[in-house]
Amino acid sequence: MRTHARDVRCQGCSILLAKLDETGLTVRRNDLEVHYGGPGLVSIRCYRPKCRRLNVVRISTATAPGGAAA
Ligand SMILES: [Zn+2]
Repeated sequence: MRTHARDVRCQGCSILLAKLDETGLTVRRNDLEVHYGGPGLVSIRCYRPKCRRLNVVRISTATAPGGAAA
């Protein structure tokens, strides 16, 4: 069982955009599934027509080396 998975929600309307856990970021939308293992930054544009806010999520997986990036 995965630990400490958390919801990534839109900063504008709080709708669920993705799930973030130690393996990275997972986006599910209908039949589309995207997984990003990171580390790095992911930008997610809210899919609600009245929102469309750009959310930037920092991905830092447990397996990624810590400390300063090269
Ligand atoms: Zn939104």
